[in-house]
Parts: sequence; C-alpha cells; structure tokens
Amino acid sequence: RRARQDDAGEAAAPGRAKRRGFSDLPGMRDFALMQTAVEELDIESPFFRAHNGIAGATTVIGNAEYLNFSSYNYLALNGDPRVTGAAVAAVGRYGVSPSASRLVSGERPIHHELEAAIAANYEAEAALVMVSGHATNVTVIGHLMGARDVIVHDASIHNSCTEGARLSGARRIPFAHNDWRAAEREMAAARRNAGRALLVIEGHYSMDGDVPDLARFVEIARRHDAWLMVDEAHSLGVLGETGRGIFEAQNVDPGEVDIWMGTLSKTLSGCGGFIAAGRDLIEWLRHTAPGFVYSVGLPPALGAAALESLRIMQAEPWRVRQLQHNARFFRDRARARGFDTGASEGLAIVPIITGSSVRAARLSSAMFARGVNVQPIVFPAVPEQAARLRFFISSEHTEAQLSRAVDVLADATASLSPLELHG
Ligand code: PMP
Repeated sequence: RRARQDDAGEAAAPGRAKRRGFSDLPGMRDFALMQTAVEELDIESPFFRAHNGIAGATTVIGNAEYLNFSSYNYLALNGDPRVTGAAVAAVGRYGVSPSASRLVSGERPIHHELEAAIAANYEAEAALVMVSGHATNVTVIGHLMGARDVIVHDASIHNSCTEGARLSGARRIPFAHNDWRAAEREMAAARRNAGRALLVIEGHYSMDGDVPDLARFVEIARRHDAWLMVDEAHSLGVLGETGRGIFEAQNVDPGEVDIWMGTLSKTLSGCGGFIAAGRDLIEWLRHTAPGFVYSVGLPPALGAAALESLRIMQAEPWRVRQLQHNARFFRDRARARGFDTGASEGLAIVPIITGSSVRAARLSSAMFARGVNVQPIVFPAVPEQAARLRFFISSEHTEAQLSRAVDVLADATASLSPLELHG
C-alpha cells in the first residue's frame, strides 16, 4: 500500500526525499475555501457538466433535455450538416492532425482558403489562424509588445489579452470599462515616456454584452500614435447587418483598425484564433510568433468547419437578423419583468445581474432544476456585487423558448428565500 504523503511529507516512506506539495500555489487556498462554501451551502456545481450531443438552443445533459443559454453557438452553425460535412470531408482527406508546425510541413490548402476569407471579411491584406483563440492573444500581444512599451486596455478585456500583456513585460494600464474619455486620459499620460503603444478593446464585451464606440477609439489610437487592436470573439456573426463585425455595425472603415483578432470557436463553430491585419504584420507573425511557429498547425477539419460557417454566415444573413431579434426580444422581456440586464445592448449576450455570487449560483441551480441551463458568472470574474447569470442567445432560439426562460427566471427568483434575495 502506498503511503499517503501530505504537504509536510510526514507520511513519506523512510529514506525517500520529502515531496513538495502544491498548497502554496496562487489561488489554491481561495479555491479550497470556495469548494467548502459550495458544499456547505449545498449548491450543485454548475461547472463541467457533460453535454451528450450538440449544444444548440436545447441540449442534453445526462438523460434530460434542457433549454440552453450557455453556448456560443450564435448562428446555430455547430451541428449544421454542411459544417459537419465539411469537417468530415477534411478528416477524410487529411486525417485529424497536420502533424507539424505549419512552418515545417503542417501547411494545408484549407489554411490559405480560410485566411483569405477572414481577411476579406475585414478588408485586410492578410490573416493568420492559430490553434486557439486564447493562445492567439497571448502570443500576439506577448510578442508584439516589450518592456519599454505600454498597453492601454479596457478593464473588462478578456483574460487572454491580459495574459499576453503580462508576457510582453509592457506597462499595462486598464481604463474604466467602455469609457473612451478614460482611455484618452490614460493614453495621453502613458504616451509621454513609452516606446510603442497598443490600445486593446473588444468589439462586444462578453460579460456585459455592450459595445464600444469604435470611431472614438480609432481617433485615440491615431492621436497618440498607438496601434488599435479589437478582439472580435463575440462580434463576428453577431454585429452588423450581415454579421461582419463591429465595423459594419458602426460604419467604420475596417482599415482604421490595425489588428483585428477573433476566434473560430464561437460563430464559426470550430476551434482556433485569427488575426487579420496588414501583410507586413502577418508575415512577421507567421515567421516569428512563438505560439504559431512552435505550435502545430490548425487541424484541417477545424479550418474547414470555420470556413464553411463563414460562407453560410455570408449566404444566410437572416441568421444574423434572427439572432439580433432574439437577443433584443429576450432582453426587453427580462427588463419588462423587472430584471437588471446591466449594459447589455441585446445583441447576443444578456447578463441578468443578481447581486452576490451565492445568489447567482443558487438561481442557476434553481433554473437547472426547472430545465434551463444558464451559467452563473461569479467573483472574481466579475465584482462580488455584480455576479450574474449570463445568457448567450442564438439564432435558433424561438420566441416561445425565450419567453419560457424569462418565466422560469421569475419562478426561480421567487423560489429563493428572502435571505438569498439579499445575499
Ligand atoms: N477573446 C475573448 C473576448 C473571448 O471571450 C475568448 C473566449 N471566451 C477568447 C478570446 C478566447 O477564445 P477561445 O475560447 O476560442 O480560445
């Protein structure tokens, strides 16, 4: 029987070196405390639930079907037979893995086709796809900026951008969420003694469902000789009349943005990340960005799925209109019932601000028990008093389903005890 070794190594077998434990890792104590709290409050964890099929407007978890608001399948393209067919055909032709970095024999024609289509969407000279959206931001920002530089970014920017900023060693200056005046002030102050400057925003914020005033940020970047980078993870397929993104929605020349970034994992129903930009930047990244050069090429099937999704998005703009209609319908209905939808523009992401993390978790659990799958967003992802349920709407949801979700939300809210109401 193996002796159990604790952190102090007290049970270490005689003669063996003491094993070093992991208890002093950052966040380990908070995580343990949270686990205890969840157990003591008897809240069923909403995390890591396995879905037994395609997660669309509905999904099967265990053996039961749920109304689903927790997947980024904005235009219902994951599961579309044309997308699945494109992926299957690519597997048949190339197998599953490209078996190498693209630089050294992992290149496949589908990479070029997808990159050309993405570049065309943003009217950019070129584009580059990588194996993960998160890794794209980390490696591109981390590689682009250096210790003498400054990165000014929205305080609500995605973790992948802040991780990239950390990696770069640049000075990192967050500005108040979606406040372009604050961005201007921070940039003006930071610019005095910095080398290069990067301004990073999202086209559609994933926690709040609001959008920036793009033209203002373009102006700030120009005025201060900075690069503007826009993360379109939640905007492609969502914003603009035909889903081309924030530039289409706000009638801004896409050439005004220096670096468009996005992911293949949301509207495009694949997996991976992209950059669309000038040819000089793309060529430099293609030959030098560590997360691209030293990582395997995007699996061809994922590229084929993303390309087919982009084609369907372009050929069937009714999906985008339906998504926008659905999200507005849901947001307005929730508001009419007295729920706080925060800053949501009703475009695809609608938070229901609930107050404390415990309350958000309890509400999510009560909704799950009533057949609706919606995830709570809790501290530290958002401030403790701004915990929320986050609804991802899709073009596939029907008005009946959206109305039912609001009814269930009201019912679940009423089921919580008064203490939890204020908790
Ligand atoms: N940027 C933003 C704004 C995101 O929300 C996400 C993922 N949720 C990413 C980047 C990372 O993309 P992926 O999940 O495709 O790695």
